[in-house]
Amino acid sequence: MTSPVRPWMTVELAALGERAAAFLTAQAAAHRQRWVEQKHLDRDFWTAAGAAGLLCRSVPAEYGGGGGTLADDLVVLTALVDAGIAVPTVQVQSVIAPQFLVDHGTQEQKHRWLPEMAAGRVVGALAMTEAQAGSDARAMTTRAVREGGTYVITGTKTFITNGSIADLVIVAACTDPAAGRHGISLLLVDTRDCEGFSVTRVIDKVGQHEADLAELAFDRVRVPADCLLGAEGGGWAMLVRQLTKERIVIATTATAAVERAVVLTTRHVNERQAFGRPLIDNQHVRIELAECATEAVVARAFLDSCLVRLLKGSLDDATVAMAKWWLSDLEGQVLDRCLQLFGGYGYTTEYPIARLWANARAQRIYGGANEIMKETVGRSLTVRR
Ligand SMILES: Cc1cc2nc3c(=O)[nH]c(=O)nc-3n(C[C@H](O)[C@H](O)[C@H](O)COP(=O)(O)OP(=O)(O)OC[C@H]3O[C@@H](n4cnc5c(N)ncnc54)[C@H](O)[C@@H]3O)c2cc1C
Repeated sequence: MTSPVRPWMTVELAALGERAAAFLTAQAAAHRQRWVEQKHLDRDFWTAAGAAGLLCRSVPAEYGGGGGTLADDLVVLTALVDAGIAVPTVQVQSVIAPQFLVDHGTQEQKHRWLPEMAAGRVVGALAMTEAQAGSDARAMTTRAVREGGTYVITGTKTFITNGSIADLVIVAACTDPAAGRHGISLLLVDTRDCEGFSVTRVIDKVGQHEADLAELAFDRVRVPADCLLGAEGGGWAMLVRQLTKERIVIATTATAAVERAVVLTTRHVNERQAFGRPLIDNQHVRIELAECATEAVVARAFLDSCLVRLLKGSLDDATVAMAKWWLSDLEGQVLDRCLQLFGGYGYTTEYPIARLWANARAQRIYGGANEIMKETVGRSLTVRR
């Protein structure tokens, strides 16, 4: 079976993908066990990835980034899937956190943070979710109160990727609780030597063990007023805009995981013998694999059509929501079927299929739960009355 040619792929992007694959495969082989035990990637990983030019690829070159498009970052994140490394930690560092700054930061904020993030010397995080404000992010209670030339932040956040290691946390907080979503603002918090800031817990997860997930507390954390990102009260609009990019990343890495699973499983069922013959000699196994391989090709065609429109600037939010829910749902289905064909080996963490399967589960939850995505699609189909 040959893979379809990706219409957005260029010679430069293909070379970047090969470079990323070589770097990430070597890193995973050398360091995965330690990352898993400590529940986060090493500082050395970040600076090495920065030096290799793999971080913040879509940040303009004048701010130290790769000067490319989101396609550059997607190529690197796909290589992470293939290397069996949990994607969210790099996704937040290379796309989510820096894109807030690129789109909404002042010149001073961009020059201060982006070159350091691209070099891997500063690790970034986005803190939106709270214990009582997940899907309903507007219910957040973290407050930021203006006091003279500062904002004073008080509240707690949970499920924050990179939270335990981040130097820069973009914190969503209410500056005007009476104004609903128009009262939410974003603040850039430098956590290094930051009085009142603490990491209260690193949360154990089903998968993605090398990507840390933390609870954070802000106890009257005082930041200068020029740490406000964009306009006061403009936080919700910025979150909505940036979440679209996160959803495309999830759709892309879901498709990459489906493709990777089909490759791994094809190899396994041709090599593994049972009842004196390779597993693939069973019709049921062939049918399972045929269906998964077909779904991988269909998924790729849908994703590529989205990416072509994204790069032209004509991708609408409803189609992004379709891609996020449908491709991450498919990821769960295909990975589960593929794991089954590995038998007991598929349930051991020694086999990459097990890691792919465990890592996939969160994709239907973060970036907006898939049920919320269907609401977005449904609203786009509803005639205004
Ligand atoms: C691995 C991981 C990494 C994360 N990283 C970050 C991060 O870096 N920063 C950050 O701020 N957050 C992060 N999150 C949080 C994530 O965005 C939230 O978990 C997600 O938005 C869902 O919120 P919740 O967990 O509170 O679930 P809830 O809001 O309690 O929802 C639970 C379930 O109810 C259903 N549901 C909820 N609302 C509706 C509705 N309106 N219609 C239909 N069904 C509905 C859905 O099935 C949903 O999954 C991360 C989460 C995980 C698991």
